[in-house]
Amino acid sequence: MKLQVATLVSALQLGAVAAHNNHARHARALVNRQAPVVSSAVSATPSSAAPASSASSVIVPGSASSVVAPGSASSVAAPGSVSATTTVPPPLATGTEIPPLASISFGMATKAPLTDVDTYTAGATPPVSGAPPLPTAFVYPGGTTWPAMDKVPPTDSEEVQSWMKELEGFHIPDWTPTTDGSCVNDLAAAAEAADRGWWTCGGHTRDTDIVSCPDKLTWGVSFDDGPSPYSTNLLDYLDEKDIRATFFVVGSRVIERPKLLVEEYMSGHEISVHTWSHRPLTSLTTEQVVAELGWTRKAIKTVLGITPTTMRPPFGDIDDRVRAISLAMGMVPIMWTRTPSGGVFDTNDWRVAGGIVDGEESFATFQTILTNASALETGFIVLQHDLYEITVDLAIGYTLDAALKHQPAFTLEPIGQCIKMPTTDLYLESTTNTTFPYTNQTAGGIDTDGDGKADAKAGEANSITGNTSTGKNGAFAISAPLLSALFLAAVGAVASL
Ligand SMILES: [Zn+2]
Repeated sequence: MKLQVATLVSALQLGAVAAHNNHARHARALVNRQAPVVSSAVSATPSSAAPASSASSVIVPGSASSVVAPGSASSVAAPGSVSATTTVPPPLATGTEIPPLASISFGMATKAPLTDVDTYTAGATPPVSGAPPLPTAFVYPGGTTWPAMDKVPPTDSEEVQSWMKELEGFHIPDWTPTTDGSCVNDLAAAAEAADRGWWTCGGHTRDTDIVSCPDKLTWGVSFDDGPSPYSTNLLDYLDEKDIRATFFVVGSRVIERPKLLVEEYMSGHEISVHTWSHRPLTSLTTEQVVAELGWTRKAIKTVLGITPTTMRPPFGDIDDRVRAISLAMGMVPIMWTRTPSGGVFDTNDWRVAGGIVDGEESFATFQTILTNASALETGFIVLQHDLYEITVDLAIGYTLDAALKHQPAFTLEPIGQCIKMPTTDLYLESTTNTTFPYTNQTAGGIDTDGDGKADAKAGEANSITGNTSTGKNGAFAISAPLLSALFLAAVGAVASL
C-alpha cells in the first residue's frame, strides 16, 4: 500500500514532459515586443480599445466576485506577515511593453491583447506520455449544450445527475453550506472551522490537500481564472524564460477561449480544474459543487481530451464536504502555501485588478512572500492570476522577474512537477497509478461526459496489479500514501494553523 516513491520518481523521469516546439510563439513574442502600445493615454476607465470579448472577461460575475468575495479577503496574510514595505524604489519593468509599477493600477490604460493562434491541430500528440491525441478543435456551439457562462449550472440536468453517482460509496460529510464562503457572515460555521476543516477560516488543511512543494526554495508556479486574452502574453513570457506553470482554469473561460487552453497544454503547462462559475464552493449545495466541477472537467476533456486529477477551489474556499466531493470525483485539491505564522503566498495581484491596492503595494506584499519563502524549510506554492491584463503585467514585468533574479536561486516549476508527481498522473487518461487519484471504483470510474457510463478508470492500464483503493469507506478513510510520503514535512509546517 505504501506508494513506492522510488517508482514514482522513475515514472516521473519516464513521463517527463517532452520537449516542446513553439517556434510560432517565439516569433509572435518578438513581434509583440516590438509592437507599440495601442493606448498610452492615462484613462480613468478601461480603454475602449480593448476588444469587447476581453472587456467581458474583466466584468464577468465570477471574476468580479474574485475581487470582493469575503473568502478572498480572509486570504490576506495575518497581521505582520504583509507589513513589510518596499525600502527601495520599485523596479522598472523588464519588458518594454510593461508599464512602470507605479502605473499598474485599476483603470490603467489597456493595450490590445494578442490574438489567438492555431499552433496545434486535431490529432497532434500532447507532451504527456499516454495522453490521447488532441481532439477536433472545439467551437462553442451556443444554445443550451453548455450551461450559461459564469452562473452556477443547474443541478437537474442529466449530466449532473449522472455525476452525482460518483459520490455513491463515499462518505460526504454533512456540513451545511456556508452563507457565502466568508467567516464574518457565518459565525456559526466559523466557530466549527476546525471541525469542518475549513481553509477560509483559519487555514485548516487535511493530509489530502496539496499545500506546498517539498523541496526548499522550490516555487510552485500557478495561474488561476483563465484562459484570458492576456494569457497569450504570459505564455510567450513563460516560453521565453523556459518556465512551466500550473493553470487552474475556469470552465466558462475554457469554452470561451479553447485555443488558449490548447496552447497552455501543448506547451507543457499543467492543467487543473478551477470550477465553472468561480463561486465559493463551501456556500454551494453538494449537487451544485458536483455541477461546478463536473462541467469544468467536461469542458477540459472536450477541448484537450484529458481529465485533470487535481482541482483548486476558488478563493481557497474548501472544507471537508467540498474535499470529499472533489476526491470522490477523482480530483485532489491543490491550495497555495501558508506559513505557520499565517503568511499567505498570495501575490494579491487580484486586489490590484479590483482597485483595492496598487501595483507598488502588491509588489511590497510580494517582497514579503520572498522573505517568507527564504525562511521556509519547504518550497511553496504561489497564487497568481492570468485573467486580467494587470495581473499578467505584474507577473511578467515584476514578480516572475524578481523570482528569477532572487538569491538564493529559486527553482520554478509547475505544481505536479514540484511535488514529484509523474506527469502522467495529472490526467485520468494517462495515469497508470491504481491508488491515485482516488477514483470512485464503486461506480466503475469517472463519467466525464455525463452520459451515465464511465469513460475512464484510474489504473486501467495496470489493473492487473489489483485495485487497492479503499474509497468505499470515505474520502478521508482513504489513506494518502503518495501525499503522506511526499508531504510529510510540508504538512507539518502548516499543521498548527
Ligand atoms: Zn480563482
